Amino acid sequence: MTHPPANQLEIQFTRERIESRISELAAMLNQDYNGREIVVVGIMSGVVVFLSDLIRGLEVPVRLEFLNASSYRGKATSAGELAIDLSGLPTLTGKHVLLLDDIFDTGHTLSRMIEVISVMKPASLKSAVLLWKSERNETGLTPDYFGFQIPNRFVVGYGLDWDGLYRNLPDVRIIPE
Ligand code: 5GP
Ligand code: MG
Repeated sequence: MTHPPANQLEIQFTRERIESRISELAAMLNQDYNGREIVVVGIMSGVVVFLSDLIRGLEVPVRLEFLNASSYRGKATSAGELAIDLSGLPTLTGKHVLLLDDIFDTGHTLSRMIEVISVMKPASLKSAVLLWKSERNETGLTPDYFGFQIPNRFVVGYGLDWDGLYRNLPDVRIIPE
């Protein structure tokens, strides 16, 4: 399949809807963390747009860390081997850690992250995702915070890519099957 022009892809969530939902998420987080310092750990690269919008709504002290995980390769729209790169991540012992990812699909990425970070004995460990393909969950895990539940379709934009493209689209759009 070639890469269709972005404006030919059906919109799933407009930038306005995403913006207002992210304000609600930020408000929930501000209330729940209640002034406590948090370490936001973003899973690269799909999270960058969501992360940069969400953290600017946070009113608690925030530290930022990133780690690399990729489960998709090239043009495939189904998951392959999960590769995690923890190098550069400081010890998170005693910290309130908020794991951030763009989308929760099978749940394998977040469940592996939770495993490796739990070992560091954080004070608390929660997860937030923009999108949640809730029909697909293979791990029994659910995200603590999510923006929207979506059906099992491959989406792009707002940080999410297909074959490296479309991350810059302001809306979330659907790749036709
Ligand atoms: P999981 O491990 O939960 O199956 O997959 C999570 C990762 O798969 C996400 O971080 C994201 O990189 C990728 N992913 C899952 N579904 C989609 C999708 O619909 N579109 C894109 N672009 N990436 C997806
Ligand atoms: Mg990802």
